[in-house]
Amino acid sequence: MVSSEYERRIAGRFATFDQDGNGYIDRADFNVAAKALLAEFGTAARSDKGQALYVGAEAFWQGMAGIADRDGDQRITREEFVNGAVKQLRDNPDRFAEIARPFLHAALAVADPDGDGSATVEDTARVLRSLGATQETAGTAAAALDTDGDGRIGEEEIVAAFARYFTVPE
Ligand code: CA
Ligand code: CA
Repeated sequence: MVSSEYERRIAGRFATFDQDGNGYIDRADFNVAAKALLAEFGTAARSDKGQALYVGAEAFWQGMAGIADRDGDQRITREEFVNGAVKQLRDNPDRFAEIARPFLHAALAVADPDGDGSATVEDTARVLRSLGATQETAGTAAAALDTDGDGRIGEEEIVAAFARYFTVPE
């Protein structure tokens, strides 16, 4: 038996991926996420960073579909998400990091205008807000990522945090 708290968390993770809110996760959701992020930072889709983000979004979608789209209809339903993605990601967070990394790497580049490989806490919060997090959640989550308190967040911290977020304890 699972707790209602667990169900609530799963619903939240599903909603994070279902960016257009139509009740299933598909390629369009990943394109919506990429588009929103580029708009937030005023980055052109046809720029190198924009293209890298779309390539990363496609890889992320393909990876998620490989894990969760059991009937191969190019849609991940809530049931497929719970029975496929959540269980496998919990059992194997490294696999999730692997499929999410190209997208996260490209997202970090968009939020990192000086190209030093890290983003400020404030810009990381902007990334999270553009992906649908509330102002408060985004701010809290971004601040928590800055474990050494230097005000900047690098790729490893972001990948690790994403993996943690999706390894939902029952
Ligand atoms: Ca959707
Ligand atoms: Ca499916």
